[in-house]
Amino acid sequence: MTSTDDAPLLVYGPRSTTYDFGPGHPLTPRRFGTGISLLETLGAVPNLAPEPATDEELAAIHEPDYVATVRMFSETPFGSPRAGIGPGDTPPFAGMHEASAAVAGGSLRAMEAILRGEVRHAFHPGGGLHHAMPARASGFCVYDDPALAVARARADGLRVLYVDLDVHHGDGVQAIHWSDPGVMTVSIHQSGATLFPGTGFANELGGGEARGTKVNLPLEPGTGERGWLAALERALPRLAERFQPEIVVSQHGADSHAFDPLAHLRVTTPAMGAAARLVDAIAHRWADGRWLATGGGGYDAYRVVPRAWALVWLAQAHREVPDALPEAWRERWAADADRHGQAPIPTAFTDPPNAGHREDAASARADERAIEIADRVLELVERALTVS
Ligand SMILES: [Zn+2]
Repeated sequence: MTSTDDAPLLVYGPRSTTYDFGPGHPLTPRRFGTGISLLETLGAVPNLAPEPATDEELAAIHEPDYVATVRMFSETPFGSPRAGIGPGDTPPFAGMHEASAAVAGGSLRAMEAILRGEVRHAFHPGGGLHHAMPARASGFCVYDDPALAVARARADGLRVLYVDLDVHHGDGVQAIHWSDPGVMTVSIHQSGATLFPGTGFANELGGGEARGTKVNLPLEPGTGERGWLAALERALPRLAERFQPEIVVSQHGADSHAFDPLAHLRVTTPAMGAAARLVDAIAHRWADGRWLATGGGGYDAYRVVPRAWALVWLAQAHREVPDALPEAWRERWAADADRHGQAPIPTAFTDPPNAGHREDAASARADERAIEIADRVLELVERALTVS
């Protein structure tokens, strides 16, 4: 472990809240009010304000025609749907290009600070837009900042391990780096059989000489944190040892939580914190501590997202998790939480162990299945890596 005085870089600034699809959209910038203020009570200080990535930087993974389309919607936010932008998940809004490019820029600048050796760990809560494709927006994501950060590390020749903890499959990052054997993606998520984006099955292993470097752990609805964390603890250290990454990028979507309104896993905060600490341990074991963490999904902006972000930041700062949430912070947000149907705000950072789990036979079975899936996937990966 590194000394505790090298504080993680924290990416947040005025542009972060401009990534806003409008009132009623689940990915609300209200999460920055609760989330950043909770980080600040822990002593965190945002010290990298995102600015838009250039078109040349975006072109590392995005088609220029697609960027031109986003710019068009950005200036004229209406008209026929195109390139995944339209009414529904990813509607156009004024300034869409600048806001989306700033998310990308935040992850790129954080990655470069790590590559220059200025910091070991960086956290970009507004990043993690893992569904965006080279020429298409998807699932609230316009530009794929984690895929761009991975590409930036690849430009320096580093082997990259990407870990995606969002409840949805990290399909954009997987697709963009599908044929690169120098990128291992590992996504644990609710199975695409029952959830957007409908991909992320065990047999998706990567293309050509990259076969065996794309890894998916698709879990059944109802899986609790026992199964989720056990699958991760079983798979991730072995995959890291097999791949030997030189840098780690992770996506910490908070929507695997039992309270989340859009999905059906039943993970709670102790497992989320443990997962962040597992990623930290892997970064130190294999990658000299080089680790960029991003946020991601998470649609309970009061009870879940702030605590999930705090647990990532505390893991990066190598600090223990305090017991109680600050009372003044809870009071500050109580009325808003109530108004948005996400009350009461819990009193502790960590939910009671396994709090989200339904104690029934189907849930117990889903937890057992998670471990079986991890073992089966490890076999598939080992076979693919041995053959190729
Ligand atoms: Zn660390």
